[in-house]
Amino acid sequence: MNVIATLPDELEAQLRAELDAIGTARGGAGVSDDYLRFWERVARAQAKAQAAIRGNRLAPPTPERPEATGQLTAAEAAFDDRLLLALLEEVAEGAPDQEPGEQAPALLNAAWEEPDLLRRLATAATIGGDARPLQETASRLDIPSGNLLFLVQILARPFLVEARLRRPGSTEHDTRMLDTASGRCPACGAHPGLAVLRTGDGARRLVCLLCDETWLAPRLMCTSCGTRDQEALATLHVAEDDPRWIEVCDACHRYLKTVDQWRMTEADPLIPRAEDARTLHLDLIAEREGYVRPAL
Ligand SMILES: [Zn+2]
Ligand SMILES: [Zn+2]
Repeated sequence: MNVIATLPDELEAQLRAELDAIGTARGGAGVSDDYLRFWERVARAQAKAQAAIRGNRLAPPTPERPEATGQLTAAEAAFDDRLLLALLEEVAEGAPDQEPGEQAPALLNAAWEEPDLLRRLATAATIGGDARPLQETASRLDIPSGNLLFLVQILARPFLVEARLRRPGSTEHDTRMLDTASGRCPACGAHPGLAVLRTGDGARRLVCLLCDETWLAPRLMCTSCGTRDQEALATLHVAEDDPRWIEVCDACHRYLKTVDQWRMTEADPLIPRAEDARTLHLDLIAEREGYVRPAL
């Protein structure tokens, strides 16, 4: 079945660019083919889900209100039981017998038994910011809660991206400078998945890997705990000239992967989710050094 051919032009172009970018990571240090194949399958399934959300108008349009700039609401996200299940079925299909997708079949079995499970988890894990339903389900299914969160965020993403795109002015990226103590995504409340030093002015642009929002933040600030104490902030480099590194915080022991767009070549366009997948080796280094990626 040619999944890509059924997508609207814009989603198809995005998916092709993402698959190309994931493909460039093949053979890179610390990145297994299984891992990249998993992300390719996820990207295809998510693009299809986005097309379904748009095409079926499963979600009501966001009411025209000038203040529609705060966090997305559950009504805007409009998580749909059947579509969440269909997406999980595709993600679970042929999931490798190792991380990251290994728990998908267990979650799928539970979702078949309990039709609103995925919607409850997707809401709690994203805009709800409530870890309890995830922890309860993880312990009931006897799977690590971090792995469950990982899967639920994959399922929630197409809904959050589409909900954000329905908002007026949603394409005006990078216009907001974050000036609060929280480094979280202004649209969905997630921790940023990546920081990019923007070409041109070198501004620090944070990227949400859940809803694709981008926003600006001060250069020297932990986006997890908000500290600006320079004593607590450090970087981990693989090589001095590598355009990708890790920014760590010794106040909260969390980290953020950072890409310097200045040092990237034209032929190497930055596609945030592909960038996240290809820098798995940086996650492993950060974890080995005792830092964790912020979860909820
Ligand atoms: Zn977001
Ligand atoms: Zn911190």
